[in-house]
This record gives sequence, C-alpha cells and structure tokens, in this order.
Amino acid sequence: MNSTTHPYAGNGQHTGSYYAATANPAPVRAELVGDQQVDVCIVGAGYSGLSTGLHLVEKGYKVAIIEGARVGWGASGRNGGQIVNGLNASLQTIKKRYGEDTANFVAGLVQEGGQIIRERIKTYEIQCDLKDKNIFAALTKAHMNELEQRMKLWASYGIRNQQMLSKSELRQHVASDLYEGALIDHSGGHMHPLNLCLGEAAAFEKLGGMIYEMSPVISVDTEATAPVARTSRGTMTCRTLVLCGNAYLGSVVPELTWRVMPVSTQVMATEPLGEERANALIPQDACVEDIRYILDYYRLSGDKRLLFGGGTVYGGTDPDNIEAKLRRNMDKVFPQLKGVRIDYAWSGNFALSFSRVPQMGRIGDNTYFAHGYSGHGVTGSHTFGRILSEAIDGDLSRFDVFKDVPWYPFPGGRIFRVPYSMVGSWWYGLRDKLGI
Ligand SMILES: Cc1cc2nc3c(=O)[nH]c(=O)nc-3n(C[C@H](O)[C@H](O)[C@H](O)COP(=O)(O)OP(=O)(O)OC[C@H]3O[C@@H](n4cnc5c(N)ncnc54)[C@H](O)[C@@H]3O)c2cc1C
Repeated sequence: MNSTTHPYAGNGQHTGSYYAATANPAPVRAELVGDQQVDVCIVGAGYSGLSTGLHLVEKGYKVAIIEGARVGWGASGRNGGQIVNGLNASLQTIKKRYGEDTANFVAGLVQEGGQIIRERIKTYEIQCDLKDKNIFAALTKAHMNELEQRMKLWASYGIRNQQMLSKSELRQHVASDLYEGALIDHSGGHMHPLNLCLGEAAAFEKLGGMIYEMSPVISVDTEATAPVARTSRGTMTCRTLVLCGNAYLGSVVPELTWRVMPVSTQVMATEPLGEERANALIPQDACVEDIRYILDYYRLSGDKRLLFGGGTVYGGTDPDNIEAKLRRNMDKVFPQLKGVRIDYAWSGNFALSFSRVPQMGRIGDNTYFAHGYSGHGVTGSHTFGRILSEAIDGDLSRFDVFKDVPWYPFPGGRIFRVPYSMVGSWWYGLRDKLGI
C-alpha cells in the first residue's frame, strides 16, 4: 500500500509526541507482501496485540503481528504512561451490575496488568523510565468520600497497597492547592509508553515472532475454518486470528464497529524543568490523575518535563489547538508554571465501551478480539493479552467470564451516538463542577 493512501494513520509515521522524539532505536519492519501462513495472526501492534503475541511466542507458537502503521503508533505509544490498577469501571459498579461472582473475579486480576508490565521490563531489560506509585486526587469532599469507599471495597477483596492522603499529606506529593486530598496506590506507577511497546516488540521478535508494519488490514474472513487477514499487498492465513486494532480499527470488522466508540484525549510536554523545579512540583515522582469524569492526568518524564493530559472529544477528532486547551487546566493545577514553554502537544484515540468495562470475545470459532479499555488500558490490555493467550492455548476459564459479560451498543446509532455521548459527558462535567 502506498503510505499516502493509508486509511486511518496518515503517512503511518508516529505522531509528533514527546515519546516519538525520545523513542529508543527500533528497526523499520517490512510490509506484508504475498500469501503467508502462521499459527496465530494478530492485527495491531499496541499493548493488546504485543501482550497476546509475547505470551504466545513464549509458549512456542508461530505468531505474526500485522500493524497498519508503526509499532506503538496507536494509544499504546502516545498515552499518559500511567500504570493504574483496575479496569476503569469501578469494582462497585461491576458488583452492582454483574454480581458478586464477577466482582470477585475482576478483583482477582486488577493488579495483574501492572505485574505483567514489571515482569516484562525486568525479564527483557526494557528501558522505559519505570517509576512507582499513582495518585487519585480529589477536588471535593464528595470525591474524598468516593475514594475512601473505593479503598475500603478494594481492601475487602484483599487489595491493600493503597492509602488515603489528607490535604496536607498530598502537598508532600503534589505542589498544588487545588485538591482536598487523595488516594495513593503504591502498586501503581508510570513509564515511557512508546519505549515499553518497542521493548515488548523486540522481545517478541527475539523469540521468533514476526511483525509487519505499514500494512493496514482492509478485510478479514472470520467465518472460514482458517481465518484470513487481507492487506492491499498480501494475505495472512492462520489457525487463530486476534483483532487488537481497538479505537483505530474503524469499520474493517463490522461485528466490532458498534461495540466501542473512538474518543480522543490530548497530552502536552513542557520544556525540561530541571531537577530542582521538577522535584518541587511532584517531589516523590508519582503520577497523578483526578477523579472527575473529564479528568486531568499528569506526571514527570524521565528528563523532568511535566507531561500534562486531559480532555476528551467523542468520535475521536483532534482539537485545533491542543496547547491552548490543556494550558488552561495546567495553570489551574500549577499556577507556578504559567508561561512555561510547551515543546510537544499531541492527541490520540482510545476506545470507549458504553459500560466502561473492556470487552473480550470471539467471532466465529477462531477469531478473538479485545478492546474498549475506556481510557485506562495500560494495565488492562496487558492482562487481556495474557487471558487471550490462555484461551488460544486451550484454557478458556478466564476468557469465558469476559466473553459472557453483556455489552451494550451506544444509543443513537451511527448518526447520533456522538451527540448523545456529548450530552452525557456534559451532564457528568456539570456534576463535577457543582461538586455533586
Ligand atoms: C492520549 C491518551 C492517553 C492515555 N493515557 C492513559 C494512561 O495514562 N493510562 C492508561 O491506563 N490508559 C491510558 N490511555 C489508554 C491506553 O493507552 C489504551 O487503552 C491502550 O493503549 C490500548 O491498547 P491497544 O493495543 O488495545 O490499542 P492501540 O494501542 O490503539 O493499538 C491498536 C493498534 O492497531 C493498529 N490497527 C488498527 N487498525 C488496524 C488495521 N486495520 N490493520 C492493521 N493495524 C491496525 C493501530 O495502528 C494501532 O497501532 C490513554 C489513551 C490515549 C489515546
């Protein structure tokens, strides 16, 4: 395929992010050309695809990943880098909606993704600026209550690495007067997300996995006994196909199109602040997000910039002026940074599911998919990759639990789902503003 006619990724090169500018060296992989065969073919080289692929090659499978742009081109290579335990939808919501058994099951795996990431980094010596701890900041008393309830509930499932921080205790972590307090999770953390992808891809290839880049899959045959993925210049026939295109898959697989909606969110990177100024801002180097519906998330990079993210655009378009949009929010949190230079600003799409619970399932007998981490997928995609690999290897026990979780299409169909969701988000935003 001619790169200028790339269906969803422009010329297929990484977005102009801080991460792309500071990426570890990586090879440019070949396009898929001609007819090939493997045991397992995975579409998409983000965390979902790479995690699934790496688990499978570790078990000895012959696996190929077909990536439409570059490894880590999607959300996985441009996100906030926050390693947050959980599956976005709270355990409280999961318990209420799907019952105690499902909540018990989910509680058993909410810390697994973070552990997989740390294992990968250690085993494969991935250089990605890993740091410990994440903070959920509260802007109101109601947020503090919510966090206290969350901590109690998690503790009731045996998850005890968390601690409430009063306003003055939080000041030891974040030099901002904006917050009432926070919850700190000592088992969370943060890292350079693109370098994590590149490291996982290198490990996958070292164990015999193949990656094709700049090869957008334009159609798949999921009904055949041996599924096929087609690009404009080649085909991959396999025993098992795994679809990990998430928000960027578009309508290539009609069965998946209505399950999730692309939503964009933005991040910017300040100029390097220097050790002293950066350490005064976030002294213990935790990453931080607040708990509003439309939230701010931020952290220090390895070279001591502030990476500040936030905002959402339903439908997945990019705002005209990312810096102007985010600077207002950053100035509220850290007025002491007014006037600081912004070196990079970028946008990316995550896949939102209506219930905010990520989805995993099967189309026909031999095609699996995972997507819809709803903005918190760094850990979930790693866990889901492991669960998919177990299923492909014959152990369906954990896959079957997720496969059976009901999913709901977005109301409004193709034309109205974006405006409907905007009204919903406006309502939640208003509640956040009023502190209710
Ligand atoms: C700006 C931003 C900030 C975020 N911050 C955080 C955070 O701090 N913490 C957190 O937990 N989560 C965060 N998220 C969410 C998290 O990044 C995602 O949930 C996670 O990376 C999803 O991984 P994935 O592999 O499923 O999808 P992606 O990383 O998007 O990967 C999908 C890949 O599939 C490829 N693809 C798509 N269609 C095709 C096709 N037809 N043919 C071939 N290849 C195809 C794409 O090119 C892409 O590389 C953020 C997301 C964004 C966008």
